Amino acid sequence: SIPLSFFGGIGGASRCGILVKGGNYLEALAQTDVMVFDKTGTLTKGTFQVTEIHPQNGIAAQDLLEMAALAEIYSKHPISLSLQNACTAPLDSSRVTNVHEIAGHGVTACVDGRTVAAGNAKLMEECKISVPPCDSLGTIVYLAVDGVYWGQIVIADEVKPDAADAICLLKKAGIQKTVMLTGDSRAVGEAVARQLGLDEVHAQLLPADKVEIVERLLAEKAPNKKLAFIGDGINDAPVLSRADIGIAMGGLGSDAAIEAADIVLMDDAPSKISTAIRISKKTLRIVR
Ligand code: ADP
Ligand code: MG
Repeated sequence: SIPLSFFGGIGGASRCGILVKGGNYLEALAQTDVMVFDKTGTLTKGTFQVTEIHPQNGIAAQDLLEMAALAEIYSKHPISLSLQNACTAPLDSSRVTNVHEIAGHGVTACVDGRTVAAGNAKLMEECKISVPPCDSLGTIVYLAVDGVYWGQIVIADEVKPDAADAICLLKKAGIQKTVMLTGDSRAVGEAVARQLGLDEVHAQLLPADKVEIVERLLAEKAPNKKLAFIGDGINDAPVLSRADIGIAMGGLGSDAAIEAADIVLMDDAPSKISTAIRISKKTLRIVR
């Protein structure tokens, strides 16, 4: 049977915009000492701005941007949304067919009958396109059309205003280890981790790599302690269900993530996690 005060705890949490799907998760939260975060959309806003456009091989900057935005037109990834926003030309989706979105890589599509690949260095490698190095700090979208390299677009994300506080509060609440996982580049991952004071960062990960790291961290932690994973759900539903406690961002998060999660933060604020821990500890004191 579930002690009555768990209902009080769940109710208190919901009034703070924290949806807890069961008293057991509230109890587990009080025993958590490893917190693993996804980067994009979780610790960062996930609303990217195009900051630089570097066309190559005689292509015009506008054409590079338009082609990338078209190839990405059916993607709901934050990167795609930023390209749609930056592109001033009207985008007609009927020009785009045969779209494949590859998690952790990007997209391939047929635009006006041409084969287009838009994504990161991994995707270019798979398409056998060699790309020049890029010094810009940001997430880079490379574009190739019919096997020819068209250039790169740099987009920048921002950390959420409460993210640094969130990490600081978690350490004060007794969390032993904070880890960030990202499919983004090492340079971007390390810059964000440094800015937020995270203990550990793993970059250039595919969704399956994220599951593998979470499994390793689960095996390493003290047996009586719990591990929580916090994500926005874009490409990370498998990790959400693998962690002891899966926490999803409710505003930005996908329906699949909200479904897979044990706790949902309705306003996407990472600082709400320490609020949830406080409520869980208070609830347990009442129960015991
Ligand atoms: P994160 O792990 O930071 O949440 P994702 O797993 O969603 O990021 O994506 C990892 C990386 O894969 C991105 O940084 C980007 O380089 C590439 N990528 C994924 N989806 C797309 C897309 N639709 N367009 C371009 N690049 C993409
Ligand atoms: Mg993500």
